[in-house]
Amino acid sequence: MLSYQHIYHAGNLADVQKHALLARMLTYMTAKDKPLSYFETHAGRGLYALDADESLKTGEAAAGIDAVEALGWFPEDHPYAVALAQVRARFGDRSYPGSPMLAAQLLRPQDRMTLAELHPREFEALKQSLSGSGARCLKQDGFGMLLAETPPEPRRGLVLIDPSYELKSDYDMLPDFVAKLHRKWNVGVVALWYPILTSGAHQPMLKVLEARNLPGALRHEVQFGPARPGHRMIGSGLYVINTPYGTHDEADRLSDLFATL
Ligand code: SAM
Repeated sequence: MLSYQHIYHAGNLADVQKHALLARMLTYMTAKDKPLSYFETHAGRGLYALDADESLKTGEAAAGIDAVEALGWFPEDHPYAVALAQVRARFGDRSYPGSPMLAAQLLRPQDRMTLAELHPREFEALKQSLSGSGARCLKQDGFGMLLAETPPEPRRGLVLIDPSYELKSDYDMLPDFVAKLHRKWNVGVVALWYPILTSGAHQPMLKVLEARNLPGALRHEVQFGPARPGHRMIGSGLYVINTPYGTHDEADRLSDLFATL
């Protein structure tokens, strides 16, 4: 049984990088009227309470979204800030949207959202937090879901692949998986999140991925201090293919901001 629970980490600096880029990409993609398909292979529970014991215990949100909002990183009209404001108005000041809830704020009625989550408790919470959004929530392996559902209708779209990397084999299988997915769904925007660990465990995966020369690739990495002494995560990465136009500007802006921490 998987033990990872995102509630301990929701709103940390890795979420800030991932969610800010995701929000920008969805905003660019929804600027055209045409409908799109949105997928997540590892959805989590969709909605988090930053005043929950688990979150307070790690203090990662305090050093993450709370700290960077205090520094004014996201102007009111930034899509991440817009989604945060909508979720807080609905669920309370200390609520925080996971990626599915963030996407639900930015997608339109004509778009289709399909979310996979394997953990039974996280899945039940996901279904509840996304109820009324029109999202399809599936309690199944996200990798299998994605291969079964692609190419999708509508053809335009984006997938966020956000594994917890509890299985070290994820690092080995992901380059082949992304390449296979791209062969099936060549217009799909694929965004793969990975942690930057002191061990450098992500590096061989990125080397193989980059050697594939997939189109429109963006590799964006930010560094930050460990959440607590001895914590192994010291940065966050997002590897995107078919990167939507304009995403590089937001990536550069985030790089500059993270460099000031
Ligand atoms: N994307 C979420 C966000 O940004 O709010 C966080 C997701 S969390 C990092 C990873 C989630 O993947 C966990 O909730 C875990 O239970 C789930 N998970 C792990 N292996 C999975 C698999 N093979 N298929 C689907 N879900 C999986």
